[in-house]
Amino acid sequence: MRKNIVAGNWKMNNDLSQTETLLTSLKNQKQTSNAEVMVAPTFTNLWHAFEALRESNVEVVAQNMHFAENGAYTGEISASMLKSVGVQTVILGHSERRAYFNETDELLAKKVDAALANSMRVIFCFGEELADRKGDNHENVVASQIKNALFHLDAAAFKNIVLAYEPVWAIGTGETASPEQAQDMHAFIRKTLADKYGNDIAQSVSILYGGSVKPANAKEIFSKPDVDGGLIGGAALKAEDFYAIVNAF
Ligand code: PEP
Repeated sequence: MRKNIVAGNWKMNNDLSQTETLLTSLKNQKQTSNAEVMVAPTFTNLWHAFEALRESNVEVVAQNMHFAENGAYTGEISASMLKSVGVQTVILGHSERRAYFNETDELLAKKVDAALANSMRVIFCFGEELADRKGDNHENVVASQIKNALFHLDAAAFKNIVLAYEPVWAIGTGETASPEQAQDMHAFIRKTLADKYGNDIAQSVSILYGGSVKPANAKEIFSKPDVDGGLIGGAALKAEDFYAIVNAF
């Protein structure tokens, strides 16, 4: 059975004191669903968040990492550094990394390899732009993102891969893919996996939807059979909203 997961991507938000406030309010929330819950603070707050959430069932994950183990890569963080502060899971390929930091599928393949080599779990993000959707090219774009970054892996690696479909036109825009659009794409992604790795692997991988998920729309999106959870940006910055989404399952 694949897992339901709700992960909050805090992006470049929250200094230390704001992080403390949000962590305290997260700890006061009540979880009524069976979803795995994750939050991704900035690098500077990872250790603090890890300590604060140690007794909770909220996993602290990272927003990015470099593919190299160490060395002359000023400003970067490696998988083993993340692991040394307790982080076991990393988000890779977020559309903001692709758009503003020129991350390509080829680079992401190296990052995925480095994370897996360090026994980390990867939340791998991908999704089409508005022009791709309008031009009815969205499935081709998504298939090539998945193939280029992940299809060099063997089937066993997929126990440590979570996929996050995030149409770029829906991220931070207030515009959400309709539940039907999300379901259609998630079913297509699962078929793409099945064609390469077989149905057992395809059925075992959690596929999250991301793009303006809010308390008001989460239930309907999560009710779709191939949507196994969400990657949440803006709504993850308010503990009440985030838990309304966590509890939408
Ligand atoms: C995201 O950053 O991954 C995201 C989905 O953001 P938002 O929920 O704000 O659209």
